[in-house]
Amino acid sequence: MNNNIAVIFYGPPGSGKGTQAKLLSDKLNLYLFDTGDFLRKIFSNPKFKNNKEIQAQKRLYNEGKLVSFEWVLKNVSQKVKELAKLDQSVVFSGSARSLFEAFGDNKHKGLVKILEEIFGKHNLYFFYLDISDEESIKRNSRRLICPTCKNALLAFASSMKNCPLCGDKIEHRSDDKKEIIVKRLKEYRQMTLPVIKELKKRKYKVIKIDGMPAPYKIFNKILNYF
Ligand code: AMP
Repeated sequence: MNNNIAVIFYGPPGSGKGTQAKLLSDKLNLYLFDTGDFLRKIFSNPKFKNNKEIQAQKRLYNEGKLVSFEWVLKNVSQKVKELAKLDQSVVFSGSARSLFEAFGDNKHKGLVKILEEIFGKHNLYFFYLDISDEESIKRNSRRLICPTCKNALLAFASSMKNCPLCGDKIEHRSDDKKEIIVKRLKEYRQMTLPVIKELKKRKYKVIKIDGMPAPYKIFNKILNYF
C-alpha cells in the first residue's frame, strides 16, 4: 500500500465528470483514465475493423448501452496494475459503472477491491456530480467536440466549425443524439446508481457535488477535499 490516491468521478452523461477528472489530473498530477475516451480510441482504430469482439462492443456503445462489463474490467484492471508499478496516483472518469465492474464476483476481483489493495480505503475518493435528466439531455445534444484534441471548452462553443487549437473539424459525438442520450441516462440510473449506493453502504468516501455551476466553481469545491 502507498500514499497515492485514486479518485473516481460519477455522474450522468454531460455532468462534467470528464472535465473535472482532467482538471484534477492536471492540478494534482494524477494519471487520467477516461474509459469513454479509451473505448473511442479503440473503436475508431482502423486496425480493429475486422475484430468481431471489438465491433460488437462498438455497436453497444453506439446504441447508448454500456459495453461488456467483463471486457472493460479486464482492460481497466490491467491498466491499474501497470500504474501501481509506476507508483502513480490515478483519476477515473467512467469506471466503475456497474456493480460487476466495481465489486466483481467470485471469479473476478472488482475495480474497487483492486484500488483498495493498492491505495488503501482512506485514499479512495468517489465524487458524484449531480445534474437533472433535462440538463443532461440539453448539454449532450448541444455538445460539440474536437475528435483530435478534445479541448473540453469546445463543448460550449457551438458557433465554431473548426478547433482553434488543432484545426480539426468539430463534430457531435456519435452517441450524443437525443434518443441515444435518453438510453445512456437509463443505463446510468439502472447500472451505475446502484454502485454509488453500494459504495455508501460499504462506507467509502462518496462526495455528492452539485453539477450545475460553472466548471471552475465545481473544481474549487472538489479541491477542498485534497
Ligand atoms: P462517456 O464518455 O463516459 O460518456 O462514455 C460513453 C460510453 O462509453 C458509454 O455510454 C458506454 O457505452 C461506454 N462506457 C464508458 N465507460 C464504461 C464502463 N466502465 N463500462 C461499460 N461501458 C462504458
